[in-house]
Amino acid sequence: MKRNTWQREAVREALSSTEGFISAQGLHLSLHETGSPIGLATVYRALADLAAEGDADSLQSPEGESLYRACTTGHHHHLICRNCGLTVEIEADEVEQWARAAAASHGFTQAQHVVDVFGLCAGCTAKAAGAE
Ligand SMILES: [Zn+2]
Ligand SMILES: [Zn+2]
Ligand SMILES: [Zn+2]
Repeated sequence: MKRNTWQREAVREALSSTEGFISAQGLHLSLHETGSPIGLATVYRALADLAAEGDADSLQSPEGESLYRACTTGHHHHLICRNCGLTVEIEADEVEQWARAAAASHGFTQAQHVVDVFGLCAGCTAKAAGAE
């Protein structure tokens, strides 16, 4: 059963117009700025639903916060700038092979993995270097 349809659509739209990953609080704030009366708890729930159905990617920031992004479908990985939030979607055949092999060597089947790389993007690296 699907509840809160307009809220979900509002969250989905806000998410697709956002570049990079965003937290539920961040998305709630930007929805609020556009005059939406949607509540924070509803944003949390809608994001979790979208992620569960594969309509959004979710990941944990190094600080342990859940972040979301409307992503291309299919399995992929992310490079994420921890300063500005720039996100690059990457494919990593080496990781796929390694994950399969590592799982198989321990007798695991149906292995899944989440690999996201946090760092400083080129722009932020240059700015950080310039500031020194
Ligand atoms: Zn993605
Ligand atoms: Zn950056
Ligand atoms: Zn992978």
